[in-house]
Parts: sequence; structure tokens; C-alpha cells
Amino acid sequence: MNAPLAMPVAAPLVDPFRRSVSYLRVSVTDRCDFRCSYCMAENMTFLPKKDLLTLEELDILSSAFIRLGVQKLRITGGEPLVRRGIMTYFEAMARHLDSGALDELTLTTNASQLTRFAAPLAEVGVRRINVSLDTLQPEKFARITRWGRFDQVQRGIDAALAAGLRVKINTVALKGFNEDELFDLTAWCAARDMDLTFIEVMPMGDLGAEDRRDQYWPLKDLRARLAGRFTLIDLDESSGGPARYVRLQETGQKIGFITPLTHNFCESCNRVRLTCTGELFMCLGQEDCADLRAPLRNAPGDPEALESAIRAAIARKPKGHDFDYSRQEIAGEMSRHMSHTGG
Ligand code: SAM
Ligand code: SF4
Repeated sequence: MNAPLAMPVAAPLVDPFRRSVSYLRVSVTDRCDFRCSYCMAENMTFLPKKDLLTLEELDILSSAFIRLGVQKLRITGGEPLVRRGIMTYFEAMARHLDSGALDELTLTTNASQLTRFAAPLAEVGVRRINVSLDTLQPEKFARITRWGRFDQVQRGIDAALAAGLRVKINTVALKGFNEDELFDLTAWCAARDMDLTFIEVMPMGDLGAEDRRDQYWPLKDLRARLAGRFTLIDLDESSGGPARYVRLQETGQKIGFITPLTHNFCESCNRVRLTCTGELFMCLGQEDCADLRAPLRNAPGDPEALESAIRAAIARKPKGHDFDYSRQEIAGEMSRHMSHTGG
């Protein structure tokens, strides 16, 4: 791959609310081998392949952000590991780890492909990954993912641990679905030395027959239930995102709560999201996006045109999102699916 070098940082990216943008999430595909019921409709229409950025274009765009001060890159999707040739992109990003420009290269995955990819990912310098897992019961797993198999995912997680990757489990809190597994999930993760983060379900994308309000389990209720059994010690750490953490005194385990709907986390937001077609979303909870594919393709040899398009987009980063489930109505619902922007 003809890769651009990471040059010294120009003026870093700062938005109108004086938040530095140091974290880029890159959705490398909108496709997936699962059809989780809160994420996708069963018969999803995916983007035509010709609309996708090539891996080389993803490299050029990601490298431009790194030149402008992005220090953390999370690769997501859809399912990032189903994108053909994806290791080429990881290998390309590894040079920014080697140069010190990038602090962390990481991944969010459903783990279905990890038996194949865990070792190569560790080899290029990935240290930590997030794995999404909502239940430990194979029958329920098949139901929620529609197309997934629990044993395959479990083997993927084992492969990641064996390759020396730190694994954090992300679980979407779903009313009437995994409420009864709160303590099983906690124990399962503790036994494997894995942290666990719960996510409130967000109103993104049309799901066909599913109703969001039927799925919504507020994390304040989940947290109260956890506090009935464990001593929760609040931790101060923040990754500039919507997660808050506690440590369970009895197990030493870290538990996260991502509450985009009930908490305002926007003041410290440090991230933007790039889709596989080159749209940049400055906020997960707003429709506004900037097209970076046009400046990339119109002036292929001109990094300045791309950088000024990125700066112009960051200047439009909104103060916050408008999600709200209150009063039995869903406000701020997004038409796009999470798999489009990357979770
Ligand atoms: N396929 C990968 C995976 O599942 O980890 C990466 C992409 S997935 C869109 C990223 C994260 O978004 C997952 O943890 C998933 O559970 C979460 N997610 C998807 N739809 C969501 C929704 N409507 N509300 C909250 N989280 C959602
Ligand atoms: Fe695929 Fe991840 Fe969405 Fe599930 S949550 S359908 S694994 S993209």
C-alpha cells in the first residue's frame, strides 16, 4: 500500500466549545454477519460496494486525522473483521503506533472472527479490544443476534485472551431479555479477568417490528440491583465518553455504565466518527455530517485540501445530542443504524 507518512502535528483539532478532538472511530464496513435485534432489521439493505472507501483511502483519511492530533483510533462497523483484507488496514495503522503518533489502536467486534484474527491483531500492536455480548445462554444468543452462535463467539474470546489481548465485554441492557443474567455476566467476566460495561439501548435506525421502548432498561435500575449485592466504589476515570466506572469491592472488577440517554456526557466529548463512505459524524446523536470523500477524491495528492475539510467539519461539532426517552416518547431518534456510524 502506498501509505502517507504521519507528519508532525499541525494545530490540533479543537471544536467551538474548546473540546480537543483526539479520538476517531472508523466504521470500516456497514455489513455484519449478525443481525442483532436492537441494531439492525433482519432484511437490511447495505451500501453498494462501489460507495465504500478503499482500504487505502481509509488509510489516507485516518492518517490525516492522526497528523491533526488524533491519538486514539477505534475500528468498528458493522462487523469490522468481515471487511475483506482488513488486516492490511490494521498493518498500515500500526506504523503510527511505531512512530508514537498514535497511543492506541483498538477494535470493537462481535468476536465471531476472532479465532482467525486475534493473533495477527496482537502482532500489529492492538492491546485491548471490546467485545459485544448480551447473553451467556446459547438459545437467547441465537435469538438476539438472529444469525450468531454463542460457541463461536466464546471461542473467539478465548482466542483473544490467549493472544494476550485485554478484553472488555460490552453488554446492551435489554429489558426482559438479560435482566436475569446480571450476576451471571458479572461472574463470567470476573472469572476471565475481563471488565464489563453496560450500555443503554439507543434510538438508532428503523428496526422493523421491534419497539425501542420495550427494550429500554435504564442503567440506574441495573446499578441499584448490582449495589444490592456488591459494594460499588465510584472511579474517577473518564475516556472523554459517556461511560462512568465503578469497582466492585468484592471482586476487584471494573464495571462501566454508558448512559447516553439519562446523562449528559457531551461537555467532555473528544470524539468523532468516520463512516466507510467517508462521512464524518461530529456527534452520534445528530444527523449532521461532513463529506470527506469528495475532498479526498477530488484532490488526491493534496493533503491540505483534506485537512481543511476536516477542520471545517470540526468547527461544526455540535454542543450535544437530543436523545430522550422521557414521557413515553422517543425524542431525537436517529434514522441511521448504529452499524452505519459505528457504536
Ligand atoms: N459489530 C461490532 C460489535 O457488535 O461489537 C461493532 C459494531 S456495533 C454497531 C458497536 C456497538 O454498538 C455494540 O456494542 C452494540 O451492542 C452497540 N449497539 C448497536 N446498536 C445499538 C443501539 N441501538 N443502542 C445501543 N447500543 C447499540
Ligand atoms: Fe452486527 Fe454489532 Fe450490530 Fe450486532 S451490534 S448486528 S454484531 S454491528
